[in-house]
Amino acid sequence: MEQLRSFTSPFDISRCKECGECLHQCPVLQMTPDEAISERKKLNSGSVSAKIMKRCTTCFACNLVCPQGCNPAQQIIDLWHNAYRSKGLPLRARYFDPNHSTNFRTYVVDRLPYDERAMIEKWKDTSECAEILYPGCNIITAPYLTQTSLLEGLEIRGSLDVCCGETYYRMGLIDEMYKVAERLERYFKKLGVRKMIIPCTAGRNMFTNVLPSFGVKFDFEVVHILPWLWERMEKGKIVIKEKLNMTVTVQESCYGKIFGNEYMDIPRKILNRIGVQVVEEKLSRSHALCCGIAGGFSIKSGYHPVDIAHETFRSLGLAKQTGADAIAVYCAGCLQMLTVGQILYPFNRMPVYHILELLQMAIGEKPARLNKKRAQTLFTGVLKNQVPLLFSLSRHRVDVKKLDF
Ligand code: SF4
Ligand code: SF4
Repeated sequence: MEQLRSFTSPFDISRCKECGECLHQCPVLQMTPDEAISERKKLNSGSVSAKIMKRCTTCFACNLVCPQGCNPAQQIIDLWHNAYRSKGLPLRARYFDPNHSTNFRTYVVDRLPYDERAMIEKWKDTSECAEILYPGCNIITAPYLTQTSLLEGLEIRGSLDVCCGETYYRMGLIDEMYKVAERLERYFKKLGVRKMIIPCTAGRNMFTNVLPSFGVKFDFEVVHILPWLWERMEKGKIVIKEKLNMTVTVQESCYGKIFGNEYMDIPRKILNRIGVQVVEEKLSRSHALCCGIAGGFSIKSGYHPVDIAHETFRSLGLAKQTGADAIAVYCAGCLQMLTVGQILYPFNRMPVYHILELLQMAIGEKPARLNKKRAQTLFTGVLKNQVPLLFSLSRHRVDVKKLDF
């Protein structure tokens, strides 16, 4: 595995040469070289660029391109942190706050079919378990993805109460992230976890990189599901019955780039092994766009649906340009976001598959394919619960309560 860069270190202004590369190569802002230099100078002299403050998706691409290793993305996270502390979030963000009693995930969970509800109830078990598959919030809203022999024998443990806090980190809500970390520490200690298999790249980054760099220690091994699956394929434990003979483009997880090329190669190697040819997008791998949800992460946006839709449409547009048969994702959140986007975006009707579903097809299983139904529920939840808040002038502050397990 390539050396993991410490992306959580503060922005190092003393090393910045004001070359502007970070903002010029930013896949979201795409500034001209002159504009990038001028914005960088403004930022470094302490004046806040409204455009960057609003539109940055904290995708971390600028950290990778900075020749001085300055960590420019962290500067934006810090600015958002200050903005949140002084003013909080627009009220509309409440519906996307994982710790608010009614949020976009609880809305979906409350409407899951009986069999999926039963699954997630079982996952709440807090008895001791040394090796777990931690589903993360995205799989909890799509439990059907775990119904495959590929995951046979794995004990799934987790609930919406033990969300990893990734969105708080990415929005600069660091104090709230600490409270989540304290909750997680107690939860995993109670379970006596020694090894965690995780299907979420964001979660993997939280447990192995972000939270430890903030002093939170987790005493267990963390293995992402992609290398875990790949190893099983290599050892012949997953037997491919049918090559799929199709083309896909890959929606990268924003965190994939943090773990480097070797990591981003794994989904491509899995796809290649099952007869799926990958067609790369114009902006791919380290310069890939977010699936769209991060369009709402800035404090100014506060999950404004127009900002989220704008970024989702951009991703769907790039995917369409490849001419591939389908979109493959390795994050259940991307699966849901892109499918919700397709409800409103008429120019991309490509099927969106989680890589687990494609593997299922290759081993002769029939995936449930519930992403469209789930997207409808998510979309309805936003219409009913967030849209009425759009014009409110009230503010929202996150309240992470202490929970007993
Ligand atoms: S790329 Fe790095 S050195 Fe260049 S302006 Fe951005 S932060 Fe500064
Ligand atoms: S974090 Fe991503 S969106 Fe934000 S400035 Fe850097 S490259 Fe651009």
